[in-house]
Amino acid sequence: MMTKIQETTLEINLPALQNNLSFLKSKIKPSTKFMAVVKAYAYGSDAEQLALFLEKLQVDYFAVAYTDEGIALRKAGVTKPILVLHPLPIHFPELIAYKLEPSLYNKYVFDAFLIASEKEKEYPVHLKFNTGLNRLGFSAEDISTLENHLINNENIKVASVFSHLGASEDLTEKAFTLQQITSFKEITNRLLSLLNYKPLLHILNTSGILNYADIAQFDMVRSGIGLYGFGNDARFKEDFKPVVALKSVISQIHSITPNQSIGYNKGHIAKTTMKTATIPLGHADGIGRHYGKGKGFLTVHGKKCPIIGNVCMDMLMIDVTNVACKEGDEVVVFGENPTASEFAATAGTISYEILTAISQRIRRKIV
Ligand code: PLP
Repeated sequence: MMTKIQETTLEINLPALQNNLSFLKSKIKPSTKFMAVVKAYAYGSDAEQLALFLEKLQVDYFAVAYTDEGIALRKAGVTKPILVLHPLPIHFPELIAYKLEPSLYNKYVFDAFLIASEKEKEYPVHLKFNTGLNRLGFSAEDISTLENHLINNENIKVASVFSHLGASEDLTEKAFTLQQITSFKEITNRLLSLLNYKPLLHILNTSGILNYADIAQFDMVRSGIGLYGFGNDARFKEDFKPVVALKSVISQIHSITPNQSIGYNKGHIAKTTMKTATIPLGHADGIGRHYGKGKGFLTVHGKKCPIIGNVCMDMLMIDVTNVACKEGDEVVVFGENPTASEFAATAGTISYEILTAISQRIRRKIV
């Protein structure tokens, strides 16, 4: 039986995570490896708990953004390989101590890693190439510079070569994605001819898996948002199950008379008699001010209640004039209905942003 929510809580649903993994795996060949992207606290949920759960399922690799995130996973007991997508040279000694695998994305980090790994033998590294996102990655022209380092260096071994798609969810940008995939093929063909072993190749993220698995799944895929059950693709709404649901409670109800103001800077002026509910959730918890002034809404007993006035640091107020509710009642921010994508859209943003903004002070509860 579900226990009653009595404080702001981020519920984490592990069977939903398992469902999403199975759905994503149904889109790729059984032999294709699967990398679970658990950076930014597993998109705002709980990276340690989720990674330990995923480790028992058919996940081959984890990816985090920074070295500290990888160290936290190792300390929690995660043993599978962990790719650090954006390591900085100052952290290389720790990264090696915790057996984390760096993405090397330019000559600066590559050279720094060669120094840090002097005492290592065939330390696994991942070469990242820029194929159009123009964020991180070597360019095709860098291959000749890499050549000597790669062939002659016994301290490192290229575990994988990868790139990242910039618009895989947007089918109007298909030509751009196809060009990225073509560039990746050209780059990897050249690289493979330099090595006497075959690293894993990977480029697809969640939307890439959904849209380009037939032409570009290579040896591995990387998924974050799909694993958590969100994305911006309505076609798969039924297939993905939301892994997290953000819920809260009503702390106080106020009866407001016409012309009274609500919240800081008199953010809302009542036009008529109204009833408001104060919720223990604010911009310090990840619900930014852009959700205020009637844009976002919370759901009370199935009814949409607009967030009125300015969102405060630890509280926000909703209009419950037309809802029979009392102090202590449950309030849904997002979960199954609305989804995180739908909630985020009320403030003109995307699920990735609302999920990763959920502050660490909110209790996580595995359900
Ligand atoms: N790979 C890289 C390099 C990323 O930066 C990300 C996320 O930002 C992912 C994979 C996962 O993408 P998605 O959450 O869209 O599956």
